[in-house]
Amino acid sequence: MRTTRATARARHGARAVALVALLGTWACSAPATPPPVPASPTTTGPAGSRVRLSDGTELRHLAETKAAILAFHESGEWDRQVDEIARQARDRLDAELPGVARPAIVLDVDDTALSTFAIQQRLGFGWVPDGWDEWARTAIAPPHRGVLELYRHALGKGVAVFFVTGRREHLRAATERQLRAAGYEQWVRLSMKPDDYDEPSAVPFKVARRRAIEDEGFEILLNVGDQWSDLEGGHARASFKLPNPVYWRP
Ligand SMILES: [Mg+2]
Repeated sequence: MRTTRATARARHGARAVALVALLGTWACSAPATPPPVPASPTTTGPAGSRVRLSDGTELRHLAETKAAILAFHESGEWDRQVDEIARQARDRLDAELPGVARPAIVLDVDDTALSTFAIQQRLGFGWVPDGWDEWARTAIAPPHRGVLELYRHALGKGVAVFFVTGRREHLRAATERQLRAAGYEQWVRLSMKPDDYDEPSAVPFKVARRRAIEDEGFEILLNVGDQWSDLEGGHARASFKLPNPVYWRP
């Protein structure tokens, strides 16, 4: 996974889970009545495990995609990629630090500071708001090791740490508890979406929070997140995108 700066690429549409989006595409493509049996096969692979749409797009079955995500996690590859990106971010922080009076970094929470894989897996990699909230209030979320090390490195250098998350305010106490349990014991501010936030994208909220940090006299040297919407809009010297094969959020 390469390190990359946030770009201004747009992300449209409602809050989405990748697998749900995949199914949605499939469902939208399905005709109202069964098509005639084609003269040539439209499936490939063992026992027709793939489905090819009329535009040539080949779909994996949902179970196959879930198995690939599980393997990405269980093999340690997810952690290895996060570790490598976090190491690059730490090196960049060290390079940017000299001469900065009030340095800061911004970290996203879910699938950046914390791993949500356990609840994602339990919910079948779908978006179930009640299940998510119950998990946040009651469960421990392990840290992404590389990000926790980056956090500790930043604190050791006197860098101010801000969390900016798409979680909503009603989960503030739960989120603070999960962060502390994972080893993130101090921060300057945890910014959360208002419960009545109704923008389709998190970008305006996250950009405004970074701008507010700058307005307080800090210089944001790093911004780290697993979603492009964590990073779009600037207000950081460098941005680092972590992997997340489970979902994307605009
Ligand atoms: Mg996230």
